[in-house]
Amino acid sequence: MRVAVYSTRPYDRDAIERASTQRRHTFVYLEARLDTTTVATATGADAVCAFVNDHLDAEVLRGLQRLGVRLLVLRCAGFNHVDLAAAAALGIAVGRVPEYSPYAVAEYTAALVLTLNRKIHRAHARVREGNFALDGLLGFDLHGRTVGVVGTGKIGECFCRIMAGFGCHLLAFDPRPNPACEALGARYVPLPELLAASDIVSLHCPLTPQTRHLIDAAALAGMKHGAMLINTSRGAVLDARAAIDALKSGTLGSLGLDVYEEEGDLFFRDLSAEVIHDDVFARLLTMPNVVVTGHQAFFTEDALAAIAGVTLANLDAFEATGTPAHPVSVERIV
Ligand code: NAD
Repeated sequence: MRVAVYSTRPYDRDAIERASTQRRHTFVYLEARLDTTTVATATGADAVCAFVNDHLDAEVLRGLQRLGVRLLVLRCAGFNHVDLAAAAALGIAVGRVPEYSPYAVAEYTAALVLTLNRKIHRAHARVREGNFALDGLLGFDLHGRTVGVVGTGKIGECFCRIMAGFGCHLLAFDPRPNPACEALGARYVPLPELLAASDIVSLHCPLTPQTRHLIDAAALAGMKHGAMLINTSRGAVLDARAAIDALKSGTLGSLGLDVYEEEGDLFFRDLSAEVIHDDVFARLLTMPNVVVTGHQAFFTEDALAAIAGVTLANLDAFEATGTPAHPVSVERIV
């Protein structure tokens, strides 16, 4: 098949080329994000391969169908950015990478916890200036603290295991409790109880209509005073404006973000010579107790190799059977 690969960076191309040992498909690599202005570049493609910030709404999908595209393969687990109902109506099959490395994201989440708690981001900047004072860098022992995990699927479970290793108490919230987390000592409680009792809250649920702004002003007000919040799931699970208010009032003690609701206009690009127009995002960057990274939690060599391998498997299976190896269907929207 001829596959147009959108939002490609050199590391994506390398991983796909390494995984593509059989050379069954022809890949056309495009740096551009897939949206209404770039959809025409899929001309001649049988399939498109897309990433987290490509626009896959009904209009783009209609454009793809008109060009003869029959398959959309996502290089990610989340599919909140795809209009699945439109894809089904247009006869475009959708595949994804349901699991590549839960370790990559869970370990990165732990890195954000440690960075914020021990102020490593500030210490690093200080030492480079020749400032070795410790004032303002005081942290706390993770051992014995309570960590609340919202969403205990593959990544949440892995994160529970890591935090159990630190000697933390675990609280969990998930409509589908995971016995492996319970075996680690996690206690499932309603969300308000988790928020009220946790020193650290980490979000690992998918973005669905039910989880959009799951952590809003009311939820933040219900958190333990001065608690830490980490979001490595999807930006819109957190209301960032409400988080700014909670940080200003001190309700929220620190915030670690690897995802942001409006990240599509920012992330995966070098904007260092440009003015950031998003005032909410810019305000977050000014705060000493906020660490923001540009959706890099997944970014390990192991995860990239796994993503490329599963993407190839989706393409091969579709060619052989008409269905990708890991299909996403409209019924999956919970
Ligand atoms: P998963 O499907 O294994 O687990 C998600 C869990 O969330 C499930 O147990 C589900 O029952 C639960 N859930 C659903 N609705 C919920 C709700 N309303 N409240 C609480 N829990 C709810 O998915 P995963 O592989 O663990 O990934 C979790 C999320 O992490 C993905 O959906 C994706 O958005 C995000 N992610 C981010 C990165 C990154 O680089 N930052 C990388 C991969 C995945």
